[in-house]
Amino acid sequence: MNILHKIRDGLIRFMYGRNGMDHLNRALFGVFLAVYLGGAILGRNEILGTVFYLLQVAVSVTLLYRTFSRDLGKRRAENQKFVNWWWSIKNKSDGAKQRHADKDHKYFTCKNCGAICRVPVGKGKIVITCPKCGGEIHAKT
Ligand SMILES: [Zn+2]
Repeated sequence: MNILHKIRDGLIRFMYGRNGMDHLNRALFGVFLAVYLGGAILGRNEILGTVFYLLQVAVSVTLLYRTFSRDLGKRRAENQKFVNWWWSIKNKSDGAKQRHADKDHKYFTCKNCGAICRVPVGKGKIVITCPKCGGEIHAKT
């Protein structure tokens, strides 16, 4: 067995049962790069330089801790939370784009429950009954 194989096998054994790279860690790595670049650009200022340095340390420590952690249950739960949060943001922005592109309908948010109601354009002043909570929305289309 040559030395490279030995190193690889050692690494595999070392990483066995550890968290490794998950979605959250990949995102943290992106944050780390952004902070690193930010520090390189804005770090001339003493205060900003310190802030960026501390951020770099905090992010990289978190990243390393999560990568080598053996507490897989907790790490998976964190990762799942992050993935859900990310999807909710992505879905919201996709939804907003779609609503913006839709010229035939107007969208109103219910003040009671936050549900989004769609109505055709050109009906004048109307009262919409929220399909979720039954509240009334007074709107002009
Ligand atoms: Zn409602």
